[in-house]
Amino acid sequence: MLTAHLPSGYVLARLAPEGRWLMPAALIGAVLPDADMLWFHFVDQGQIHHHRYWVHVPAFWAAIAALTLPILAVWARRWLAPAAMFFAALLLHLVLDSIGGGILWGAPFSDHLYALVEVPASQPHWVLSFLLHWTFLLELGIWALALYLWRKGRRI
Ligand SMILES: [Zn+2]
Repeated sequence: MLTAHLPSGYVLARLAPEGRWLMPAALIGAVLPDADMLWFHFVDQGQIHHHRYWVHVPAFWAAIAALTLPILAVWARRWLAPAAMFFAALLLHLVLDSIGGGILWGAPFSDHLYALVEVPASQPHWVLSFLLHWTFLLELGIWALALYLWRKGRRI
């Protein structure tokens, strides 16, 4: 997914019950895994698919959630809902990345990048291949839903 992670977090928070800090938690969780693009470009020089970094590995985040959510539930209950929203937005990011990009859903037992659809390199640049593939319509749909909810301005 190229462009719709941030609006997907917005939609997720808007469709959830109201709560303090839920929107920021959703927006951060929805985009956080792609912070690895900095490492991808400036350290690894694009040599390793960034979906292979730990921030794109579902098992890593499942372990972090399994550790933090019970602790918050017992000792910091007011942060439990924002943390759950954060992890839900992270999961949404990984699911959306699975449509055309591939995610290590089997890690650490498999190094296969699971993708729902393979986007062929039909254009000179990979970004153009993704923009002109039919799966980009889903991104436009997420943007449209986010803009609709934003313009509507109140909860549904
Ligand atoms: Zn990503």
